[in-house]
Amino acid sequence: MTAPVRVRFAPSPTGYLHIGGVRTALFNWLFAHHNKGTFILRIEDTDASRSTDESIREILESMKWLGLDCDEGPFRQTERQSIYKEKVEQLISANKAYPCFCTTEVLDQKRKEAQAKGLKPKYDGTCRDLSETPDGVPFVIRFKVPLEGAVTIKDILRGNVVFQNEELDDLIILRTDGSPTYNFVVVVDDGDMGITHVIRGDDHLSNTPRQALLYDGLGLPRPEFAHISMILGPDKTRLSKRHGATSVLAYRDMGYLPEAVINYLARLGWSHGDQEIFSRQEMTQHFSLENITTSAAIFNPEKLQWLNQQYIQNTDPIKLAEQLEPFLIKEGVLIEQHGLSIKEIAKPIPSLNQRSQTLIEMAQKSAFYFKKDLTFDEKARDKFLNKEIKPHIEKLITGINDMTLFEHDPLENLLKKVAEEAGLKLGKLAQPVRVALTGSTASPGIYDVILLLGKTTTLKRLNEGVGFIEKSCN
Ligand code: GLU
Repeated sequence: MTAPVRVRFAPSPTGYLHIGGVRTALFNWLFAHHNKGTFILRIEDTDASRSTDESIREILESMKWLGLDCDEGPFRQTERQSIYKEKVEQLISANKAYPCFCTTEVLDQKRKEAQAKGLKPKYDGTCRDLSETPDGVPFVIRFKVPLEGAVTIKDILRGNVVFQNEELDDLIILRTDGSPTYNFVVVVDDGDMGITHVIRGDDHLSNTPRQALLYDGLGLPRPEFAHISMILGPDKTRLSKRHGATSVLAYRDMGYLPEAVINYLARLGWSHGDQEIFSRQEMTQHFSLENITTSAAIFNPEKLQWLNQQYIQNTDPIKLAEQLEPFLIKEGVLIEQHGLSIKEIAKPIPSLNQRSQTLIEMAQKSAFYFKKDLTFDEKARDKFLNKEIKPHIEKLITGINDMTLFEHDPLENLLKKVAEEAGLKLGKLAQPVRVALTGSTASPGIYDVILLLGKTTTLKRLNEGVGFIEKSCN
């Protein structure tokens, strides 16, 4: 029997949570859930000069928004210092680590000399076997890397990756100020937390041989590794701000649905046949590390937008309304104390969900329904609300007024009849009506608009349209 899966996502809180980081988190989450294992969140904040509480908040908020809940954690490395100290002691006692007294100046000098000779700069082992250690001199602790041999990393995605030990330095595990370094704490934590699989970006692949040797040195079993390739922009350079938003919360603020972002990121490097749209349950069911490609994944914002539209279209209006509400407020369509129920907010959604790529767009397009006072596209109003159309709108007003059954079919009949009697194509009547009712030339279908607004508001707005024509034509 193999041990239950335990994986972790280990972000360094030095900025916002990047799209690439989220994909790493998601692959870990999916792998854990697929295997009924444990997903751990560990905040790697040992670099005090670069870590911020703000960034930790953003990471936690992003994970929550995406529904990437952890089973254990969040742990913070800064709260685990005593464990690291203990492990340093363990290595020193076993003669696997040693104090190094070389000053930065001396090391810099040696590095320059090596570079001048065209050699790869590397710690020369001056303090590796000191018989006497000086008192009162600042020191770091270095880990003894075997001088010969090689480390073979068994990577689930890449097969065996071999590194020669002589290429590796005796790495520093404790700085002069007593703080432990990244490669060391990662290993201590992964060991202590019983991590079985390390799934992370391949930018860490060069750290892995050092970490593997540290596992060996600490007497810990090495986990399995899966290094996933980086996400690149359309120009094949590493995804960065130049390619658009890379912070996951920026996508939330642009009106993307978390499920669309998750679906998009899952497909960025992982596949299950040709399937593009996955529920979380399906993703979990089909996920396997073997189906992750090792070639670089290219970020395609248009595809993300397309997926978002698909999700907007297929999400239950009531559920979507909950997510739409903050955007209605942000876009000034509703006031904060609007007093509307979710059901009321959901009302225009079925007429808008085919034509909105983001929740912002949907909020803007629903303004005609929620706002008492329409904001007009002035040009459209001047163009379409003119004296030629006035008698026909008046006829429509009378017709609507007389309607006993305020429903789609009778409405359609009425509009068609008015258009026919006016000798106009339906569109030539519908467009001015649309402008009068919504303020613009783009809106849901005209019958949907009228039915959504209801008889009273429709009549009021049509009358206002007539009023506008009278005023502007006099
Ligand atoms: N803290 C590292 C980072 O944010 C990840 C380390 C790891 O996954 O091993 O890049």
